[in-house]
Amino acid sequence: MKRLLVLAASSVLAAGCAMRPPVEEGSFREPDLVELTGLDPAIRLDIRYATSKNFLGRPVYSEARAFLQRPAAEALLRVQAAVKRDGYNLVVFDGYRPWSVTKDFWEATDKHDFVADPRKGSKHNRGCAVDLSLADAATGKPVEMPSEYDEFSERAHPGYAGGAAEARRRRDYLRAAMEREGFTVYEHEWWHFDYKDWPQYRVLDIPFSEIGKAEKAGKFGKAGPAGEAGPTGSGR
Ligand SMILES: [Zn+2]
Repeated sequence: MKRLLVLAASSVLAAGCAMRPPVEEGSFREPDLVELTGLDPAIRLDIRYATSKNFLGRPVYSEARAFLQRPAAEALLRVQAAVKRDGYNLVVFDGYRPWSVTKDFWEATDKHDFVADPRKGSKHNRGCAVDLSLADAATGKPVEMPSEYDEFSERAHPGYAGGAAEARRRRDYLRAAMEREGFTVYEHEWWHFDYKDWPQYRVLDIPFSEIGKAEKAGKFGKAGPAGEAGPTGSGR
């Protein structure tokens, strides 16, 4: 056990040295990140990483904004329309996440089931993963779910059978609505969904503030130097 811990610690250290976004071989779509609230203002934002209310206890985003690649964003719009008919709005906690933030997460926690390995990147880094919940459309209040967002416990698992039945029902309702539009829930987190097109987008490290500018200047999606990691992507 001790030996395993030492190995784990040394691999984290090795990963921390000169880490850069994975460079991936193959053909990818040009990134086309779009801002969710620009597509449908009914989608609510609760960008915890722009606040201290997250597992790091400090802001990691300078702006409370949420982006996804266009096909994923359009699929999410259809989910929003569907849940609206049932009296809900989507509440988005996170969408596209720059790779350097994923690296910060990895270095800040040892709960590595809940954070993506930066050597592979996260599907959030590809602009194809979204963390979200539901709010009551009438009151605007977030609904109760079996766990809090970013709670690193078994209650976060999408199959967790404890807690209030009504909370589990809402969790399962959200999952079904997302699955109908091409999203898949992550096995450790009821709030995290990957869009089916994720292998077609590269890991990106563009800060929010640069998204509009880079798009206009056509600077998105250029391949870097050759490297080793493939588009495996993992977890959140
Ligand atoms: Zn996530």
